Amino acid sequence: MLASLALAAVAAATPAFAQTTRPAAEQALARAIYKEFIEIPSGFTTGATTPVAQAAAARLKAAGFPDADIHIDGPNPRKHNLVVRYHGTGARKPLLLLAHIDVVEARREDWSMDPFAFTEKDGFFYGRGTGDDKAQAAVWIANLIQYKAEGYKPDRDIVVALTADEEGGGPFNGVDWLLKNHRDWIDAEYALNEGGWGESVNGRQVVNDLQVSEKYVMNLRLEVRNKGGHSSLPVDDNAIYRLSAALDRLSRFKFPLKTNAVTAEMFKQLSKTESGALKTDLEQVAAGSQDAMQRVAGNNTQWNAQLRTTCIPTMLEGGHALNALPQLAAAVVNCRVLPEDKLEYVRDAVRAALADTAVLVTVQGDVAIGPASPMRPDVMQAVTAATDKMWPGVITVPIMVMGGTDGRSTRAAGIPTYGVQGFFIDRDDIRFHGRDERMRVRSFYEGQAFLYDLVQRLTRAAPIP
Ligand SMILES: [Zn+2]
Repeated sequence: MLASLALAAVAAATPAFAQTTRPAAEQALARAIYKEFIEIPSGFTTGATTPVAQAAAARLKAAGFPDADIHIDGPNPRKHNLVVRYHGTGARKPLLLLAHIDVVEARREDWSMDPFAFTEKDGFFYGRGTGDDKAQAAVWIANLIQYKAEGYKPDRDIVVALTADEEGGGPFNGVDWLLKNHRDWIDAEYALNEGGWGESVNGRQVVNDLQVSEKYVMNLRLEVRNKGGHSSLPVDDNAIYRLSAALDRLSRFKFPLKTNAVTAEMFKQLSKTESGALKTDLEQVAAGSQDAMQRVAGNNTQWNAQLRTTCIPTMLEGGHALNALPQLAAAVVNCRVLPEDKLEYVRDAVRAALADTAVLVTVQGDVAIGPASPMRPDVMQAVTAATDKMWPGVITVPIMVMGGTDGRSTRAAGIPTYGVQGFFIDRDDIRFHGRDERMRVRSFYEGQAFLYDLVQRLTRAAPIP
């Protein structure tokens, strides 16, 4: 997956990208904040988010934000979040700008450089969190400082929340904690978040993604129990055989292919970037053709995952001794469920596919189900207009993602959430959570300018041309 060391010719220019970026002083501020955030280790076990929140607060206070508008708090001293409010006229309900400030763990020996030293090399910024999600965190703070410096008066409050522990679950998720304990700090008409970025091919920008929904995760535990016995006296009824046979039947089962409002629009927009038979197929998928869905899903793992709920075994256990008949055979089946598919429907479909009542199927843990955000015309139009202005010819594509973000929690709490960043990343070089994570220098500064413009479009009464 990380085989391509992308051709960085386009990016090997100086940091000053006229016209498509903010002025040099604003770029320098965003870069300084980005560097500071990256160099604070904030992994779940080996780091803390509190120093990142404090660094952001220090920047805001230095820029004149009053203490009363800044909150630093959280469930324990290491897991604090930052919330800052920039006051508008109050004509409309606030806009919430989210970014998480924890990162996936990174070990020095797994990287070709220090993951917690901010490194600019060959047109890229390297470091853990450069893509996920400290670029957006840094840009939210830098742009807010700039709005204040300009005396910009939005028609609604702009609230920035930099939050803890989005990665890898755990009990200290900052968004959940804020929703539960300080909803008033972050309540908003809707939110912008990570989850949608720009897709480029060898540095050439193709589509700008706007994430409006996500699949949800459900884990099923499958168990076959047996009284067991000595392996020298086998009987036909064997727990491992029964589980294996049931899993084999599951391997031949597939959930139906279908689109929802978001994916239909996504395939329609994507058809504009293709040609020939694929273009026609994508158009027909958007129009609901089962034949076209079969072809498209059959040729592309990602599109398959967007067109159906998927359930796949990810773990196996069984037996307790080399010379004993197994008393237990068990598997975990990990389901990625379309937002419109009910938990019970998916569980029952898996049971039916297993076709053996001796296989006990249970849902593991709590399942967090979040609705899709509505495709609000004001948000869709603002993102499209800001994208057109910044990157003429680049198409804005609403997407449903297979992974999860904090947007699931905010959506479930009634705050529609849109994942949009304007940071472009090569399709074949996505290094989130991986080795030598990086962000193209040019993409960082263009994303800064894009988000600056987009937030103004969403917070200014008079339309922006
Ligand atoms: Zn993230």
